[in-house]
Amino acid sequence: MNVDTIMNDLVKRHPGEVEYHQAVREVLESIEEVYNENPHFRSANIVDRIIEPDRVMVFKVPWADDQGSVHVNLGYRIQFNNAIGPYKGGLRFHASVNLSILKFLGFEQIFKNSLTSLPMGGAKGGSDFDPKGKSNAEIMRFCQAFMMELWNNIGPDTDVPAGDIGVGGREIGYLYGMYRKLARENTGVLTGKGINWGGSLIRPEATGFGCVYFTKEMLATKGEILKGKTVAISGFGNVAWGAALKVTELGGKVVTLSGPDGYVYDPEGISAEKIEYMLELRASNEDIVAPYALEFDSAQFVQGKRPWEVKVDIALPCATQNELDGADAELLIANGCICVCEGANMPCTPEAIEKLQEKQVLYAPGKAANAGGVATSGLEMAQNSMKINWSRAEVDDRLHHIMTNIHENCVKYGTNADGYVDYVKGANIAGFLKVADAMVDQGLL
Ligand code: NDP
Repeated sequence: MNVDTIMNDLVKRHPGEVEYHQAVREVLESIEEVYNENPHFRSANIVDRIIEPDRVMVFKVPWADDQGSVHVNLGYRIQFNNAIGPYKGGLRFHASVNLSILKFLGFEQIFKNSLTSLPMGGAKGGSDFDPKGKSNAEIMRFCQAFMMELWNNIGPDTDVPAGDIGVGGREIGYLYGMYRKLARENTGVLTGKGINWGGSLIRPEATGFGCVYFTKEMLATKGEILKGKTVAISGFGNVAWGAALKVTELGGKVVTLSGPDGYVYDPEGISAEKIEYMLELRASNEDIVAPYALEFDSAQFVQGKRPWEVKVDIALPCATQNELDGADAELLIANGCICVCEGANMPCTPEAIEKLQEKQVLYAPGKAANAGGVATSGLEMAQNSMKINWSRAEVDDRLHHIMTNIHENCVKYGTNADGYVDYVKGANIAGFLKVADAMVDQGLL
């Protein structure tokens, strides 16, 4: 395999899909060596087969607002690879959603799901519908219209969507309700369901929890612990609150949260009680971070900036892609940050990653560090098929075990000659090998 040649072809075939190109290049660069050492991958041309999705569905979603005006959004489902299990990956509702972003996320999902050690393939979907400012009734009508088109292409053993940005418990409820009506079945077709109708305990906070468990493992490789460390978290959503809660529980001090318009700095720490307030703010659908600073005297809102300028030991970017760039990485390094662990998908730009790795900062990519979310979705699927419910402690134990296992695999495949662990390389190789072997075993499809 020659990465540049493959990338040139990919860019020619899919011009302008920059996020997708970025994600593919990163994986190819990591696996190049192991791929070229394995002639059976080359003879099956696994690389050309794995970088293209199995299928891409694009559909229109017409819906009416509360005034009766009709709107049309685009809906997507990218079924990327199902060599090791049913397609699995979240739905994102955000104005920025396009084919490139969903292809990057679907591609990443293949390796992330493989790393969890659970039988799940890779997929992603969503819509350019922006839930912000919409009424509950509008959200419901949109979700119903979206599912009316999608339901026939998913199923508990074929494709199991979940939430992502803009798709939380409420949206999963409306989507599931419509699926159940159309398919006339109650099955584990979606994850992130409500606890009374097939959901799993711990799922809402699992991504954040898992990210912090992974951080703990990374710190342990340097003889460090989370207790007493200051932590910058970005975002204000599902991942951010789970991470904030677990850091606090383990004795760390979270000093920032953020939104697209700026960040909150609270040097006294964002304690469990303050996280409760953050959840109330989110539930009010205002979901802006600034009012937090009005509520608590110790906090200030820093408009138009990102939290990476604050002096912290650990940074957990938990908001969105490309939210921590080269300059931010330099600031973190200059301020003595020892660990950057990605709660979001691809929040660090390639330049930032290069700088962090160059200075041997502990750095973990989202596909390993935020795999706790999809892993717990896998646990929800297992509970649904067995028609049982595990306790909170049981799910949390399994999640913890899965994250430790992913960390071990990253160390196994990612440790360089000088002892520095390249978690990007480790995660990509470990995730890739399992899927590539399955593709070889199952023949040319
Ligand atoms: P949410 O929609 O719940 O939260 C995202 C948060 O980030 C919101 O507070 C949002 O603010 C904020 N945000 C959006 N853009 C920016 C920006 N440019 N700068 C700062 N903050 C911003 O999403 P999730 O928490 O579910 O997802 C966050 C990330 O984690 C995504 O990359 C997602 O793909 C990834 N992820 C999520 C998983 C999950 O289980 N939920 C699993 C694995 C990965 P606002 O609402 O005002 O836009």
